[in-house]
Amino acid sequence: MRIVLLGPPGSGKGTQAALLKERLDVPHISTGELLRAAVRDQTSLGMKAKAAMDAGELVSDELVLGLIEERMGAADVQSGYLLDGYPRNLSQARALDDVLGRLDLPVEKALALTVDEEQIVTRLARRAEEEGRSDDTEEVVRNRLAVYREQTAPVAGYYADKRLLVEVDGMGSIEEINQRLMAALS
Ligand code: ADP
Repeated sequence: MRIVLLGPPGSGKGTQAALLKERLDVPHISTGELLRAAVRDQTSLGMKAKAAMDAGELVSDELVLGLIEERMGAADVQSGYLLDGYPRNLSQARALDDVLGRLDLPVEKALALTVDEEQIVTRLARRAEEEGRSDDTEEVVRNRLAVYREQTAPVAGYYADKRLLVEVDGMGSIEEINQRLMAALS
């Protein structure tokens, strides 16, 4: 299966991606994780990306596209993929179609997790305590949510126009949500 997973920060997207990866046996490709690894390793890309990440802004399309092109070209992606955190705006969605078209690995389904904002703020506050992510302070979280609303939410419409979008209720237990996602794929 070739899947794009959409959902606001704090929607439980990362948790569900980890479960889906096991159940579907496809690589989980998270641009957030790729970027955090680059920051940790202090690569030149990581140093360029850090300020935007710490502010809850998007890293430039160009930098992230480079990461994605490299990752999608790897052999394991032939068996399918679960893309998480990409595309995050319409121009990334179009660029992704170009890349995947060249590789002959087009998206088959876009799954969008829907959650209410109150729940998101609670979840992210908890994660801030547990993981100490530097982009989980309240102000930055607010900014990430605003960026999502303005730039990423339209990506769902992009996939809806292509008849690839399935919206899935992201409220409930981890297992419940996972079952809804699996049902949406079958
Ligand atoms: P969350 O879903 O909680 O916002 P992610 O791990 O997906 O967290 O992303 C963390 C940060 O990494 C984002 O706020 C952004 O700065 C950067 N990032 C991740 N993916 C992209 C992308 N596709 N384009 C631009 N920036 C990105």
